Amino acid sequence: MTDQPARPPQPPAEGSASPAAFSRRLLLVHAHPDDESINNGLTMAKYAAEGALVTLVTCTLGEEGEVIPPELAALAPDRDDTLGPYRAGELAAAMAALGVTDHRFLGGPGRYRDSGMMGASQNDRPDAFWQAPLDEAAGELVAVIREVRPQVLVTYDPNGGYGHPDHIQAHRVAMRGAELAARADFRPELGRAHEIAKIYWNCNPRSVVEEGFARLRAAGHSFPGVATVDDVPGVVPDSEVTASLTGDPAYAAAKSAAMRAHYTQIAVDGPFFALSNDLGQPLFRTEHYQLVHGVPGAAAGVREDDLFAGIGEMVGMEESARIEEAAE
Ligand SMILES: [Zn+2]
Repeated sequence: MTDQPARPPQPPAEGSASPAAFSRRLLLVHAHPDDESINNGLTMAKYAAEGALVTLVTCTLGEEGEVIPPELAALAPDRDDTLGPYRAGELAAAMAALGVTDHRFLGGPGRYRDSGMMGASQNDRPDAFWQAPLDEAAGELVAVIREVRPQVLVTYDPNGGYGHPDHIQAHRVAMRGAELAARADFRPELGRAHEIAKIYWNCNPRSVVEEGFARLRAAGHSFPGVATVDDVPGVVPDSEVTASLTGDPAYAAAKSAAMRAHYTQIAVDGPFFALSNDLGQPLFRTEHYQLVHGVPGAAAGVREDDLFAGIGEMVGMEESARIEEAAE
């Protein structure tokens, strides 16, 4: 799918269609508003533009984030504590930039609160996502999975990419949710069981990250400092990457716009960006994945360039199984 025409991501037509009307359905599970744009902005823009159903589930409002712009400092949790709702607005703007219309917060907005960095006292708040009983939080995701019936799920690795408690918990909820959604005996009131064909974890190949930092140092930039490879989440040996997505430059532009929409959290400078630590890092225009469940849609040793690769036949099988079921 590298020969798509150049056009910006288009939202689906108004009044659209139930999930079943989309032949390709992608679900992403993230911890905070902004994680989706940093990790998967290009992927989301690409599939939305190609007419797939892209569903984002964000587990918290990101209430404990640090606020970059000085003029918005009062939003912070130790002041007005209004960063969560503000970030929900930023997320809505980012989704518009990506052309994604199906966005939900796990259990509804504010159901689970940002847990703060590992070891912070906020980890222990009873409403912190880190404290959520796993099967209860996963049950909230099961309802979404059985409604949307995605063929592909994207989330973090078991370390959440970089050890943030909400990212680790988002990984656990996503994996457990996928498992429980497929079990007909788990809470049948949440809908008909559904098995997700392929599950991917976000990752970044080490060579690409190192090359990105070399570019950053050579280019000159406006950031007070530069991050290191260890600051980038999910860095893995190149050999562990199983899928790499690029596509139309419009998708990279949409990713950049979506990241800018998270104005309290991200400062974007051309092909680079910084989080609240003010350390510049490369903004990647190719996104990488590791397939951890399901059948690869490319030959052994060859990276997929489409997360749905090999799924067409399986969709057909699911449909015909349902028709046979109905005929019995
Ligand atoms: Zn996050």
